[in-house]
Order: sequence, then C-alpha cells, then structure tokens
Amino acid sequence: MNTIQKFKSPIQFRTSTILSLILILLTSFQLLAQDFTKEDELRGTVTEDRAWWDVQHYDLQVEIFPESKTIKGTNTITYKVLDEDKMMRIDLQAPMVINKITQKGKKLKFKTKGNFHYIKFKKAAMIGTEQSITIEFSGVPKEAIRAPWDGGFSWKKDDNGNHFIATANQGIGASVWWPCKDHPSDEPDKGVDLAITAPSSLMGVGNGRLISEVDNGETKTWNWKVTQPINNYGVNVNVGDYTHFGYKQEGLNGMLDVDYYVLSYNLDKAKEQFNQVPLMLNAFEYWFGPYPFYEDSFKLVEVPYLGMEHQSSVTYGNKYQNGYLGRDLSGSGWGLRFDFIIIHEAGHEWFANSITNSDVADMWIHEGFTAYAENLYLDYNFSKEASSEYVIGTRRIIQNDRPLIGTYGMNNEGSSDMYYKGANILHTLRQLVEDDKKWRSILRSLNKEFYHKIVTSKQVEDLMSKETGIDLTAFWEQYLRTTMVPKLEYKQISFNEMSFRYIDIIEGFDMPVIAVINGKEQWIYPKAAWQTFENIGNIKSLVIKEDFYIEKEQVK
Ligand SMILES: [Zn+2]
Repeated sequence: MNTIQKFKSPIQFRTSTILSLILILLTSFQLLAQDFTKEDELRGTVTEDRAWWDVQHYDLQVEIFPESKTIKGTNTITYKVLDEDKMMRIDLQAPMVINKITQKGKKLKFKTKGNFHYIKFKKAAMIGTEQSITIEFSGVPKEAIRAPWDGGFSWKKDDNGNHFIATANQGIGASVWWPCKDHPSDEPDKGVDLAITAPSSLMGVGNGRLISEVDNGETKTWNWKVTQPINNYGVNVNVGDYTHFGYKQEGLNGMLDVDYYVLSYNLDKAKEQFNQVPLMLNAFEYWFGPYPFYEDSFKLVEVPYLGMEHQSSVTYGNKYQNGYLGRDLSGSGWGLRFDFIIIHEAGHEWFANSITNSDVADMWIHEGFTAYAENLYLDYNFSKEASSEYVIGTRRIIQNDRPLIGTYGMNNEGSSDMYYKGANILHTLRQLVEDDKKWRSILRSLNKEFYHKIVTSKQVEDLMSKETGIDLTAFWEQYLRTTMVPKLEYKQISFNEMSFRYIDIIEGFDMPVIAVINGKEQWIYPKAAWQTFENIGNIKSLVIKEDFYIEKEQVK
C-alpha cells in the first residue's frame, strides 16, 4: 500500500530572520525539525522515485557466513506500476553493496549515492502491470552492539560456543542489511519468501511457516514463507542451535499453530515460561479480536538480544524470567506477574504488524496500544484492579519531554513516552467510555476496520471519536501533540461546595473526571474557568480518581 507525503523543507523558513526568531519562540519542536538532514528526508518521504511503484512481494534469499560476519543474497521485488516513471530508488545502507540488478534476465544500470541506489529504466512500464527486478547484494552488514536499540546483525555465541545470530532493525531500517523500499507505507501485499542459508550444524529461522529444508552439504537452506502483508522491519533472520516444540491453540479463527524455536539447552526453561503464551492469546483475542496472522502461524524465537515484534516470528531474549529482564516497570508488583517480552512483543501482532503506522512519526499507534495491552493482559488473567495499578504505576517513567507524535516525512519517531503515556491516555479513555463491554467493542472494531492496514494517527483518532461517540479532538491534540499534562486545581470553598478548573490545557480541552467525595464517585466537568459544585453535602473527604492521567492539586 502506498501513501504519498509532501514535505516542506524547513530551510525555506530561514529566508527571514524575524520569522525564524518567531518560530524559535513559538516552539522548540520547530528547532528540532531544522536538525533533520537530507538523508532523513529521503528515508522518511515517499519521493517520486518511490511513489510510482507498489511492492507486491519480496523474494529474499540470504546466505549467512558467521566466521567472516558477512552475508550475500538476492531480493526479487515484484511491484505494481501505479504511474509512469523511469527512475526507481532502492534503499540499501553502506557498507552493504548492490552487485547487480537484472530485469527479465537483462542487466539494469544503476547509480549509488550513499545509502540510495537509483535505477534508470529506458522506458516507463505500463500502468497497472506487475513487474519485477532482482537485486544481488553482499557485504558486511552493520553489527548491532546493543540490539534491539541500535539495529543490525547480532553475531553472538551461545553457552556451548555455537554461533547465535539474529537481525533486529527497527528504527535504523531493514535496508541496513537487505535492499528494499524502506518506508513503512508500502508493505508487500502478498508477503515475503525468505530463504536462509547457514552452516548445516545450525538452523535458520525466519518469519511465517517453514516450507522446506534443503541440504547443500556444508550448508542448509531453510525456506520460510509469509503470505500476509508484513512491515519491512518485521522481516528477520535468526541462526542458532535451535530445537523446536509447539502446540495448536483453538482460537477465535480456528486452530492456530503455535511454534517455538529455542536454544537446545533452554528447552525445559522454555516449556515452563512459554506457558504464558496461551494466556496471552486468550487475553488479546478477547480484547482485540482474532490473532491477525492465522495463515502464517504464531512463533516465539529465542535470540541473543531482548526481543522484537517480528511478525509471526516474535523474538525472545528475556532470559526466561518475568518482568522486563526481571524488573517491574510499574513498581506496582504486577509487572513481575508476566514475562514482559512475551506479552509486549506479541501484543504488537495486533498493533504494529496488523495495524501499521504509515509514518514512524505516528509510532505511538504501535507502542501506546501495545504498552496498554500489557495491562489488558493483567485485566483478563488477574483483575481489573491489577490492570489499573499496573498502568498507573508506569506513569513514573513518563517524561513529557517531547510530544508522542514525531515529525512527519523525516523518519522521526516521537518521544519514548509513546509507550506509557500512550497506555495511560488509553486507560483514561476507558474511564470516559465508562462501559467495559463498549470499550472492548471499540478495540475490536479498531482491529477489524484497520486489519492489515497502514494508517495515520488521525485515522485512529477519528475512528475512536466515532466509536466512543465523544468528540475527542481536543483530547488527542492535548495528549498526542503537546507535552502538557492537564492539571486540575480544586478547592473546598465551604462545607458543601467545591471549585475546580484546569490549567496547562489547550483551548477546548474539557475532559470530565471522577471526584470521589465522601467515598462516592461523582463526575465533574472542569474547564479553563473556575466552576463551583454546590450542595454536595458535608465534605469529609475529597479525592480525584487516579485512573485519569492528569496532574491534580488541592489549592487553598
Ligand atoms: Zn514495543
């Protein structure tokens, strides 16, 4: 799928010094925007040389050479011609190189400029036709030092001294090791064939289902197949001394194949820890609807780094313990009741892999909903109180440093608050809906409406306004596009009257909250101006319910 974005270069704004000064005064966000490079713009924008072709399928074959930490391979890209154009841009980051590009057996000329490779066709292909090119590539891919945060190849050894290799490239992009159109707005509609060749003493595990295994003598080739659209960063290669086990789960869409690939010596630990998978699938199918990739199965694959939401091959490196590497992010105790990586990364199958952002600036759709899914797991398997305590507990890691939404067209993510501020605003929204059955149906319609789709934050915001029946325009604007946390000031002005107002809000923000007066819940409707709530009886105790993500202060 293709979406075209237009980017207006901030350089144009620099023509007037006065205007620049005003901009600096207006927002520091504009300042950040001026730090972007041409490279960021090219990576983050659907430029003309990307817009005319829509990826249908990637046939990616890669051979891994552990001793030299090198790879080589081919990628056959099948694409639909949407528009007349002769120039095609392919992304592959240096020091990886493209050795050759062919179409129908004929060599194509291309020019390399840094991480971008431009193919000039002699004539434009006919609109509506499907074409394909084959790219041969090789090199020493960037090594990930602190995967999954930096991205690239992890070349590690397991405890027995066997090679243990994995890719993770969210952020830096899939083009760090394989040639593709590296923009989230265009997923291969018909999936990916992924052939991994590696030393035959090990095993190569990729996305989707294992179709065949070919013995080449010293090496083996494992052919994996994904039949559904997949985001580029979700495509992954893992090589290790794997052993396999699995089961079939009866789910909402029938029998789901669940498979696990773990290091041979971790089999017993995995059999114990992965008991959380059926609990996770039950919880998420209950709240979000069917697991979105029955065709391609569900897998957990052990890796030498923490983990990543690789579609139908969720990678796991949480060391077979609960929490986030044994820690509770929330401080509430509930974070130690589940394995963070199993629950969080698998939650991304719904939010990131099925519903995908069209620009990484809107990545809160992935991380906010998935961080929120952690507490829905607790809600389903423990209690509603557990879920509230957990999500409220995670507020301690919110920084309000930058807005949740980043800068469009620049391959720029918003603040890391997209996780737990995202989760907390969704938890707040659940309070506003005040009907858990309805809330669940909203989450399910989101997954139905945007099933396997690439969307903007605005589309998600609008659908949630429509489904809740509440105009959430100011709500989203406040929480997603500013760093201000609404602050409720309230005071008791007589024995049976209280006054309240909001500060630190945008115009029109008027979210109601629940005040607990003498133990009784009561909706109040604060706005920017002070209001008085009269005749509420002799106030002995007055608190504002914690579930709403706001600051509050009882003033004199
Ligand atoms: Zn995540």
